[in-house]
Amino acid sequence: MRRWIHSLMILYSILGLCQLQPLIQESEQLASQWVEIVQGEVKGSIVGKDGKPVIAQLRFFDSDGALIKRIQTDIDGNFEILLDEGHYNLEVSKGYEYEMKQLPIEVKKENPLNLKSISLTRLMDWTAKSYLCGDLHQHSQFSDDGLNTVEEVLIANLANGLDFGAMADHNTVDGNDEWLSLSQKLSYLAIPAQEITTNQGHYLALNTSNLIDVTALTSEDEIDQMIDETHHQGGMIQINHPGRNFSFWNVGGQFDAIEIWNGQAMPPIPNLNDIDEEFAYNQISKQKWFDLLSEGVKITALGNSDNHDISSESITAPISENEQFNEWIAQGLYNGNPRNYVKVEEESVEGILKGIKDGHVFITNGPLMDVTLNEATFGDRVVSTNEAEISYLIASNQGSLEALNVIADGQVIETIPLAEDVPTLGTINLNLSNYQWVVFEVISKSYEYAISNPIYLK
Ligand SMILES: [Zn+2]
Repeated sequence: MRRWIHSLMILYSILGLCQLQPLIQESEQLASQWVEIVQGEVKGSIVGKDGKPVIAQLRFFDSDGALIKRIQTDIDGNFEILLDEGHYNLEVSKGYEYEMKQLPIEVKKENPLNLKSISLTRLMDWTAKSYLCGDLHQHSQFSDDGLNTVEEVLIANLANGLDFGAMADHNTVDGNDEWLSLSQKLSYLAIPAQEITTNQGHYLALNTSNLIDVTALTSEDEIDQMIDETHHQGGMIQINHPGRNFSFWNVGGQFDAIEIWNGQAMPPIPNLNDIDEEFAYNQISKQKWFDLLSEGVKITALGNSDNHDISSESITAPISENEQFNEWIAQGLYNGNPRNYVKVEEESVEGILKGIKDGHVFITNGPLMDVTLNEATFGDRVVSTNEAEISYLIASNQGSLEALNVIADGQVIETIPLAEDVPTLGTINLNLSNYQWVVFEVISKSYEYAISNPIYLK
């Protein structure tokens, strides 16, 4: 009997290797093609404490924590989506000043979910401290590589808690009229813009309505002409992601702003290990900006998403061999990541542009800061620095904060520990008389990061 079974097994394995196995594979493939994917409906609405609709963002994660879908409500705070049957974690959010609400849900075809009036609480109000937040580098379908309509990008801005923003399509201003007219009804401050995409780097012309028609730049004179034309139109001009493809550093200081943090690469956090240059160009941009500051150049640092897809489905991990990069990008790119918090004298486009010009800005993907040095704010100049008094308030809705670094002339000279998930308020005195400029940086135990513009000394 045993011998017989043994022979049969040998026969089976021979057959299996040469005949049965391909047949089994083929039938499995056919079966998987015919497995019906069953979907269920989830709909609902988001409201504030006052019961009024809130335009919000929803992310659906599977039980392993992988991001499955990112959607936004409509302008009345309603949403509706079909998802494969199963268990999900739903996260409802609206930028960094609201709570990030988590709800476990089960999607079943025969049992549509109606999540009526999910309330979302605003935890912090940086507008009360005269800050408005916005993303100045985003794309729509008017860019050949942009996926969304102008209206979809605008709703994604509101769903992420942005107060202002610019549409910066490649070498066109065609989307700007719609951008401006739609925003008027939604108390959103829209800024017309364009991304000048050239053979020698990309530039953001902000607050310009007419096309600046340059695609090739070969000399510093041509850079000057481009800057002049932007200024002539009443605009400002930023070097976009300079760590990627900018080579005119000797005239770099003539720009109004420099994008030291572009959303398509890792945040410029310190001690980023083993990241390919392709994903770490923000580190290069930040270092070049520090070099300019130390040369005495006054130029505002900005950070923007450069988003081309509000669903973040076109860029998903793993796209690199680097685990750290994959882990970061799996959270998805979104409008307003990172964003600029600009301190304004008046809540208008003019107020925002002036705030940027004056450097009253910090850049963040989560942490919020309110820091003064002898009562001066970012972008200001302070004369008496022997016993400088630094007052700080640091908060986050993501709960992984670690420390506030004081960076003077490019070096960390003081590290102040922060509570992870409650606001930290304090005051310290430092002797800054040997330094030219000081920048504040918030670091975390995750990828949360924020960096301020400098306070100039002497
Ligand atoms: Zn871009």
